[in-house]
Amino acid sequence: MSDEDEMIYRGRITFDVPVPLSEIEPETVERLSYGPVIPLYTDLGRALGGVRGAGDENGWAHSGVWFDVLRTLEAIARRHERALDADATFDSDERGRGRLVVDAGGRFHDCQEDEQPEWHRTRACRCFPARIDSPTLFAVADVTEDERITVRPMPAGPFTDYAVVCEDHGDVACPTTEREAVFRREAHIIEAHTAHPLPLGRTGAAQALPPAVLGQLQAAAGELRRGRSYAAPLAIRHRDAAREHARQAAAELRRLSPSDPTDTLLHLVAELLADTSPHA
Ligand SMILES: [Zn+2]
Ligand SMILES: [Zn+2]
Repeated sequence: MSDEDEMIYRGRITFDVPVPLSEIEPETVERLSYGPVIPLYTDLGRALGGVRGAGDENGWAHSGVWFDVLRTLEAIARRHERALDADATFDSDERGRGRLVVDAGGRFHDCQEDEQPEWHRTRACRCFPARIDSPTLFAVADVTEDERITVRPMPAGPFTDYAVVCEDHGDVACPTTEREAVFRREAHIIEAHTAHPLPLGRTGAAQALPPAVLGQLQAAAGELRRGRSYAAPLAIRHRDAAREHARQAAAELRRLSPSDPTDTLLHLVAELLADTSPHA
């Protein structure tokens, strides 16, 4: 998927058993009620049976919009223990045409015309980014300690998925690998649980710091500033770099004056920035 990809799904996606609207959060229903899909209601409008594509007139949308619809349907099916069935084709500017396939664990896949649906049903495909073998993809150097946000293995048919759940914000993500789940957890911590970094300007504290320490702290602040220009998942590497600089600063302080009591205060500044807790 790229930023340019416009696409359409034509056809229907349904649950094996309709889900009563009273059991679905209104925001979730709302997400399926505008844009490129039309909800299919049953039971006199009291249950959601699935959705259908809005057709050529209104069904073309950015692929990200469509993927949000599909992720929403997957999440409803997961939560309410329903099976999904897709009778739909896709047509994409960038990825050609094909069929929508539901795998044995309840995930949607775009099966292109020249591919075997079975590859996707068994997840023997490369649809999920975490399955692509790259050491930098979803790399997290440091895992933040915060017991409010957990990663839990979750059975999905013959597969195991990983639910990222936050005590404060509910379901955060449910990727297909633990590696991506850990990454999504860190991204959520940055997005929703991290206060803005301490401002490091021309302050008295900054002037009091030895240059070697100050340099590291400024580098840390720079990384954190850069990290804020990116969406949370991309910000992780900047935050990891910032933590490393802050640790270097702390080590530098210890090296310069291990017994000086005023150092304790400076040390605290560095430790605050290096702290792995989300409230640092
Ligand atoms: Zn696939
Ligand atoms: Zn949260």
